[in-house]
Amino acid sequence: MTNWNYTTVPQPGALNQSLEVARGFVLGGSSSINTLNWYRASNAFWDNLARITGDDGWSWNSVEEYYFKCSRLVTPQDGRSITTEANASAHGDGPVKVTVNGFVFDIDTTFEEAARNSSQFPYNLDYNSGNTLGIGWAQSSTGGGQRNSAATAYLEPALNRTNLDVLINTRVTKLLSSSMNNGTPVIDVVQLASDANGPRINVTATKEVILSAGAIGTPQILLLSGIGPKADLDALNIDVVVDSPAVGLNLTDQPATGVVYNVTSVQTFTDVQRNSTLADQFMQQWTENRTGLYVNYPGSIVGNFKLPSPFEDHSSGPGSANIGFVTVDGFFGAPQIPDTGEFISLLVPVLSPTSRGSVKLASTDPFESPLIDFGVYTTDYDINAQVEAMKIIDEVLSLPQFDGIVLGPYGDLADAKTDEQKALYAKQTVGVYDHASCSASMGPGGVVDSTLKVKGVQGLRIVDASVFPKIPESNTQAPVYVVAERAADLIKADYNSHSV
Ligand SMILES: Cc1cc2nc3c(=O)[nH]c(=O)nc-3n(C[C@H](O)[C@H](O)[C@H](O)COP(=O)(O)OP(=O)(O)OC[C@H]3O[C@@H](n4cnc5c(N)ncnc54)[C@H](O)[C@@H]3O)c2cc1C
Repeated sequence: MTNWNYTTVPQPGALNQSLEVARGFVLGGSSSINTLNWYRASNAFWDNLARITGDDGWSWNSVEEYYFKCSRLVTPQDGRSITTEANASAHGDGPVKVTVNGFVFDIDTTFEEAARNSSQFPYNLDYNSGNTLGIGWAQSSTGGGQRNSAATAYLEPALNRTNLDVLINTRVTKLLSSSMNNGTPVIDVVQLASDANGPRINVTATKEVILSAGAIGTPQILLLSGIGPKADLDALNIDVVVDSPAVGLNLTDQPATGVVYNVTSVQTFTDVQRNSTLADQFMQQWTENRTGLYVNYPGSIVGNFKLPSPFEDHSSGPGSANIGFVTVDGFFGAPQIPDTGEFISLLVPVLSPTSRGSVKLASTDPFESPLIDFGVYTTDYDINAQVEAMKIIDEVLSLPQFDGIVLGPYGDLADAKTDEQKALYAKQTVGVYDHASCSASMGPGGVVDSTLKVKGVQGLRIVDASVFPKIPESNTQAPVYVVAERAADLIKADYNSHSV
């Protein structure tokens, strides 16, 4: 098993469905199972984070060194020049190798041409250069034609270090305090177990504990440790170490729906979806020399847009999008690919949602999944934004360059003509974008301060996607690497000044 395979509590905004929540149950965490899109969010996102936290160290200009430190742009596996597809100066020299797809379909080039000729949906050379708006080539952490994860880029090169121990198949069940400092609990003991009934083993930290269990696991561990809203802890008879009302609240993800369009006989990978012999041949090619279709991540082209008036702009600012799309050059829909026909699909997220949810404990058993609620489509804005996004996709695919290529929406989407029908389609087909964030957030009223230290205790820091006060209007792996790189500097600075 490489996935925690969580589900949400029933989501009233999504016809009471319980939605799947994927999280990596493997070294490298979710970076080892994610879809690999590489997207560091806009300059406005980081500047807004600096504003919310009152810490200029989180501004776009300040975190750029950490972005450059974590990743680098490399040539795609087909060896073509990508000077017209990405901006090299927006990339650094770190271990995560980022590239654009090394197996290009004609339809990808058609999207570029359409955008280059559109003022409404303009071409964006590189959505990782600050302004994210427009249409551009998708970047992914597939440099070298394979997955680059936190495990391959950071952990594996460090495995020989004598000061590093990695425990697998082991869970943190609780954090404990063995002492007080001026009336403040010092969190210095990590309790571990291999299974629910197995022995609990305590490990003591001499300097500090860094909690990086992600936006679901981190609040769960805090709550199990008595760090959370007092009323919730009392209800489960958990001793309150700190009454920290924001733990588990503000959980955010982006709702996303998938849309499929019929296309003429342009080249897509539907032939591979239908023909296992061809799929095996591509796999063999990939295994032999990391070329061919399987060097690609599932997407190809990315679009990021503001919603038109009278929608309010709930994003972080001018360079950030409200809604987006990622193209998939094949059939990505339910229940399975039809026997005939060519298709392209688009995944359509609301990137700046206003719905908020929570992570709460179902019980005091650390091996029981917590109650996960994203509040999907619980605000009018989010469902209306989703409907508008679907209309915007129609407009993009109506650009003249798609004449004679895109035939029209497929399946239930074709019948969803009115706003009400589109809203119903979205509610029926919605999933979360797998970007769970914000459940132990930074800033006023939040769980951690701007140096990521948990308020109300000593010796405990959080370094993962839960610390964002507002979800990045993008994918989330690159922003988490940025947080982690800055965290490393913050920790070193504290250690060097002996203030930990
Ligand atoms: C299916 C999927 C697709 C995605 N697609 C993209 C994408 O295309 N682009 C993108 O940018 N982002 C994507 N993401 C999101 C991105 O991968 C995450 O935002 C990012 O990895 C989060 O990092 P994190 O450190 O916060 O948490 P995680 O990477 O989830 O790491 C948390 C780690 O803590 C471990 N853990 C949790 N609880 C415990 C416990 N009690 N004891 C011990 N260990 C514990 C977990 O096993 C995991 O290893 C995707 C995620 C998923 C799941």
